[in-house]
Amino acid sequence: MEAGDLPLRCFRDCHPEEMFVDDGVETVTSREQKKVERSIEEVINVYKQIHTLPEPTLLREQHYQYLKKGLRHLSDAYECLDASRPWLCFWILHSLELLEEPIPSNVASDVCHFLSRCQSPTGGFAGGPGQHAHLAPTYAAVNALCIIGTEEAYSIIDREKLLDFLLSVKQPDGSFVMHIGGEVDVRSAYCAAAVASLTNIITPKLFENTPSWILRCQNWEGGLSGVPGLEAHGGYTFCGTAAMVILDKEHMLDLKALLRWVVSRQMRFEGGFQGRCNKLVDGCYSFWQAGLLPLLHRAFCKQGESAVLSEQRWMFEQQALQEYILLCCQNPAGGLLDKPGKARDFYHTCYCLSGLSIAQHFGNLRSHHELILGKDDNRLAPTHPVYNMCPDKVAQALEHFLQLPVHETTGRVHPLSPPPQAEQSQS
Ligand SMILES: [Zn+2]
Repeated sequence: MEAGDLPLRCFRDCHPEEMFVDDGVETVTSREQKKVERSIEEVINVYKQIHTLPEPTLLREQHYQYLKKGLRHLSDAYECLDASRPWLCFWILHSLELLEEPIPSNVASDVCHFLSRCQSPTGGFAGGPGQHAHLAPTYAAVNALCIIGTEEAYSIIDREKLLDFLLSVKQPDGSFVMHIGGEVDVRSAYCAAAVASLTNIITPKLFENTPSWILRCQNWEGGLSGVPGLEAHGGYTFCGTAAMVILDKEHMLDLKALLRWVVSRQMRFEGGFQGRCNKLVDGCYSFWQAGLLPLLHRAFCKQGESAVLSEQRWMFEQQALQEYILLCCQNPAGGLLDKPGKARDFYHTCYCLSGLSIAQHFGNLRSHHELILGKDDNRLAPTHPVYNMCPDKVAQALEHFLQLPVHETTGRVHPLSPPPQAEQSQS
């Protein structure tokens, strides 16, 4: 472990005006960028004045209290997330598991009961009881249940109907709509691939043409967009790449262009990541962008490039990201946030902590190496970079569901292995 004696990065001493170059053309974007850099500089300067030792601290207890309260009571501000309630369960439960805080069994049981009410009679999960099934809350609910990881939690998932739902939102070109009558984007392919692989319901038909559709989302920038032809974006790039990893087709992507794009999204001054070119730093991209580096590391290893890859570090500045999260994204009363001046919320708490975990833990098949900025107490549990839950929970869910049969015929009939001619006629 290389812990508390890490110095803060020297380029913190640079004046922000030296860091950002607008080529003499001031725009709304460049003005906003300078404003953010000044606010970060203020945070760093205050930190330097009050601390003699460079030990940024994770406000573990405050985050725990904030999360614990959120499981039982939400403020009025969360009313707008009435159609995302399984997400709140996932964001809070995953944050708690990263902090290694156990979930009391009565709370776990209540969450199971609530999520069972979100499950649609036609399969999949909705954003709340009585709503229509949607791929995003389906992913959140399945992840939340796998984090709970009890028999009660696993048994809630109606796998046959889940497969029915996934088939009902699958499009002939390989893409998925988020819900019946809804929009197509690459999030849906990831949500479908994640839940289908975790619960062992993948059939040959389910992801037919999906890798080639995802490939069309990778654009000239190197990252992936929501649908083919748009701007590359961190959230979509993570979803598309992770879906390709699940489907064992990541080699189809231009991995070097993807690597170049994602490492260029780590901000030189702030240390955190932006979501798109020319956008501001945001704590949640600590996971969506940094989470791509473990996926890329593994993909390059699979291509036989281990010799040029580090055995100890991901291909981004892990220390700088930890500094950004610990110094700029923590609310002193608990909860994490986008950037200084913004409000805390459970979404940013989950993805800032997930990104911090990625930045603290390097791991491949041969070795595990930790790089913890600050005290050892800052250490979070590792997270699985494909599913974003703790790796033991992924292993436990896979072990559980692998014992259960794959249902090849459900409400609708789909062939086990379509003959090659049938496959071709679909494409
Ligand atoms: Zn954000």
